[in-house]
Amino acid sequence: MNRREFSKGILIVGTGLGDGSLRDASAGVAGPSGEYYEEPAKRLPVRKFGVVVAGGGTAGVVAAIAAARQGAKTALIEAKGYPGGTVTEGGTALHSFYNLWKAFPGVRKRQVVRGIPQEIVDRLLKVGGCSGHAEMIEGYNYDSVCTCIDTELHKLIMFEMLVEAGVFVCVNTLLAGAIMDGPRVRGVIVESRSGREAFYARSFVDCTAYGDLAAYAGARYTEPNDYAVCNSVGIGNVSIDKYYAFIKANNGVGQLAKGMRSGQPDQIVRAGAEWISVPGLAEGARAIGMGMITTTVHDNYLMFIKCNLKMSVSPTNRDEVAKAELEVRRRMAKAVELFRQYVPGCEKAFMARTSPRLCIRRGRLIACDYDVTLADVLEARHFDDEIMVYGFHDSAPRLQVKNGGTYGIPYKALRVAGIENLLAAGMMITSDHEAHMSTRNTVCCMGQGQGAGAAAALCAARNCGTRDLPYPTLRGALEKAGVYFES
Ligand SMILES: Cc1cc2nc3c(=O)[nH]c(=O)nc-3n(C[C@H](O)[C@H](O)[C@H](O)COP(=O)(O)OP(=O)(O)OC[C@H]3O[C@@H](n4cnc5c(N)ncnc54)[C@H](O)[C@@H]3O)c2cc1C
Repeated sequence: MNRREFSKGILIVGTGLGDGSLRDASAGVAGPSGEYYEEPAKRLPVRKFGVVVAGGGTAGVVAAIAAARQGAKTALIEAKGYPGGTVTEGGTALHSFYNLWKAFPGVRKRQVVRGIPQEIVDRLLKVGGCSGHAEMIEGYNYDSVCTCIDTELHKLIMFEMLVEAGVFVCVNTLLAGAIMDGPRVRGVIVESRSGREAFYARSFVDCTAYGDLAAYAGARYTEPNDYAVCNSVGIGNVSIDKYYAFIKANNGVGQLAKGMRSGQPDQIVRAGAEWISVPGLAEGARAIGMGMITTTVHDNYLMFIKCNLKMSVSPTNRDEVAKAELEVRRRMAKAVELFRQYVPGCEKAFMARTSPRLCIRRGRLIACDYDVTLADVLEARHFDDEIMVYGFHDSAPRLQVKNGGTYGIPYKALRVAGIENLLAAGMMITSDHEAHMSTRNTVCCMGQGQGAGAAAALCAARNCGTRDLPYPTLRGALEKAGVYFES
């Protein structure tokens, strides 16, 4: 088979773009019948914990480790077969452990997120699964620092850290309901092949990204659907050096960062082709919402190429999501084809990894006691109850934290409004779109997870509600666990 035939093969399986003959995932399926089935009541076995964390993703793994290290008997409920979440599925790299100092001459470069998130990086570095904190050196370099990870090693390291901390890790387990006692969550209902069970606890943390637990508990939420859904494809048999040479030759370099790659320091680990205008490639990429920024920690692999799709209907609508899943899979196949066709050195590229399900940056947004505003972020505001500080914004240099400094995430921003013993962490907090462009980033979600997990454990130990925890107790525990606060 020659190169052209090889390329054609993939076009046959995918990318029905503009091809009206291709059917979507729900074609021919009947709608609801209008009849109802009355589900009989069941007796469920109960397990008891101090803290239950729902969702073992970016924020959830850190929350569960923090809660267990704080001494709480902790359970983590994760629907997939591994912990890790969107970090391993959608994002291009971890952004950012550092402040955005570059746009402010004279401002010091500072690592502002430490604690458990940094431990994760250290563990990954030991097994060759991380670029280290790689600084942007060319093009759109206001991003300052990104940290690229091996997604598969990340899943393993997360699992090991959870087990070492003594967390009861329930993977392949769906959170399917909340058991309420007035404004208190008494327990959650979980489903797995071991059956349906009830997990009781004193404190709960919702890290499901979509706020499933909070929604089951009756919390208020909005669902703005103001962002494209997106999946990422990992491409094998390629070279980031050749990719960079190609975009450089075509004046298209938007980003460049160097770090550890396949055991060697000072290698390209992130390259962005945001400014590429090669005819055919640029239009092709636009048609499938392809972001041409990629990262890697391995010589022959591009870790993330993203394909976006703006859904007209809610990303919590199963049938609409099914249509989007199919369309985004077609787009990912097309993305690989574009690499084969246009990027020298990528002629034999193949799809090595795809997101296991549709990824979204904003699903349900849960109402908490405080909603971080864009002014809080841009004005570098601090609070008298903060659980972490953060200094990155996704839209830099257009939106920057004042003077390259940090703002605080207050504890009250994690307390789910109207519920006594439920905290939230991750992309489900912050309703303002542009403030969310900061708080939803991976490293901020991880930091929130540490704050929420520690707080939940302290509440469980005192048998108190989340609003009755004295802040000095929480602050002391976080400082002891290595969390950085602005001095
Ligand atoms: C395409 C894309 C690209 C991005 N790029 C970047 C980037 O380059 N840099 C960056 O810093 N950030 C990036 N982000 C943002 C960042 O990755 C996310 O905002 C962040 O990872 C979300 O973390 P989380 O903990 O809230 O959710 P997640 O990491 O998604 O974790 C939620 C977990 O909960 C589980 N879960 C959900 N519902 C249930 C249930 N009912 N029962 C059991 N388990 C459940 C899920 O399986 C998942 O593991 C990107 C996001 C996307 C979607």
